[in-house]
Amino acid sequence: MSDSGALDELYKQVILDHYRSPRNRGELSAPAVRAVGHNPLCGDEVIVSLVIDNDQMITDIMVSGSGCSISQSAASMMSVAVKGQTASAARETTRAFKEMMSVHEDSLETDNSNRSNIESAAPGHHLGDLEALRGVVKFPVRIKCALLSWNTLLEAIDSAGNSDL
Ligand code: ZN
Repeated sequence: MSDSGALDELYKQVILDHYRSPRNRGELSAPAVRAVGHNPLCGDEVIVSLVIDNDQMITDIMVSGSGCSISQSAASMMSVAVKGQTASAARETTRAFKEMMSVHEDSLETDNSNRSNIESAAPGHHLGDLEALRGVVKFPVRIKCALLSWNTLLEAIDSAGNSDL
């Protein structure tokens, strides 16, 4: 399958690009909320800090941490995807991303073309660079690496919801 080979190569480039040139890298100071996520299986750490304004909009987000290329590039992609979204839209994007990963995993054995499955699992969601991470599910141990920043994002959003915003 030369097509999927070329696609894998493209995805690899996207992941490496985010790993080498991480977007929104750093930490925001108060009043930003902050959450720290760990993936002990791989030794990854992701720190998400974000600001949610009175309209529930994520006006700023930064990520830091250390770990494998998958965890860190996924964190970079996540920050780009949800910056400027509302908190509820970011939850929905998280859901779509997790769905994409699990749909791909389920259909890995039988279906070489998952795009239509992804469209139906997450209609109207253009995950863009995030789709590069679909290749990760070929390595199940790495799925936790890809999901770490998203779970940490949800934690940060939840803690923002608990403040008096
Ligand atoms: Zn990892």
